[in-house]
Amino acid sequence: MSAMANVNVKETIRKYNLRLTKSLGQNFLVDNKVVDGIISASGIGREDIVIEIGPGVGSMTARLAETAGFVIAVEIDRHLIPALQDNLKEYGNVEIINEDVLKLDISDIIERTAARTGLKRVKVAANLPYYITTPIIMKLLEEEPGIGSMIFMVQKEVAARMTAAPGRKDYGALSVAVQYYSNPVRIMDVPPHCFIPQPDVDSSVIRLDVHEEPPVELKDRALFFRVVKAAFGQRRKTLLNALYNAGFFGADKEQIREILSRAGIEENRRGETLTIWQFAELSNVIAETAR
Ligand code: SAM
Repeated sequence: MSAMANVNVKETIRKYNLRLTKSLGQNFLVDNKVVDGIISASGIGREDIVIEIGPGVGSMTARLAETAGFVIAVEIDRHLIPALQDNLKEYGNVEIINEDVLKLDISDIIERTAARTGLKRVKVAANLPYYITTPIIMKLLEEEPGIGSMIFMVQKEVAARMTAAPGRKDYGALSVAVQYYSNPVRIMDVPPHCFIPQPDVDSSVIRLDVHEEPPVELKDRALFFRVVKAAFGQRRKTLLNALYNAGFFGADKEQIREILSRAGIEENRRGETLTIWQFAELSNVIAETAR
């Protein structure tokens, strides 16, 4: 394996006469310092299987192959596959999968790769296609296939939402969901000129360190997320009104007052001020009441 093989993105685009597809979020990273920053913050090592989502023409994939035990690179665009294969041909530890990551059985792929390689630790790395950032991240977190940590390039504004604390303007259902499953750490901001073509937005690298155990105990996880959604769906309304309007098990206002009081939450609070522990308490009380 050669040391530090750099994939030249511009050269690859020219050589293969590639036309980048905006609707697939194809903004390729051309700043090697940023790639180095992602690799070093990822904590990836030889004992890791890494899933890379959207390898493009393989500039980060090559660096991942030099660092990880094994890399599974999932790319939807079949037009990129010949260039990707060519740029990665010297690495024996990369499998390219030409698929939509949202349709992929990730647990199954991890299981197969673990059996084949003897590796057990799993991490994810991706310069994400921004049009499906949330569905990809939520799929990886919810399906719980034993992933230890994930490092992502996302829109700066989305990174702010994922890391936001209660009461901040960016705090919302995404903050609660991401923080239920992981501890999000902002790594660095990345300006548009680090990509070709340049995106219209600023970007940030964020690492999600997945919790081994969730930080709160839930009686009913689906109900917890319904409560969170209801609370943020009507941000301007008090919790009393937001929960009433969401129509939980047909409860009247008096019953909801009672639920809030049992959860120790004042009825005129807005959902956007609740911590994840308070959402948990609230959904646990609702779960008991609805029984
Ligand atoms: N990793 C490369 C880089 O850093 O330059 C490319 C990143 S580019 C922002 C996003 C990549 O995700 C593109 O290659 C795009 O084709 C791919 N992609 C878009 N939607 C996808 C999906 N549903 N499943 C897998 N890959 C997808």
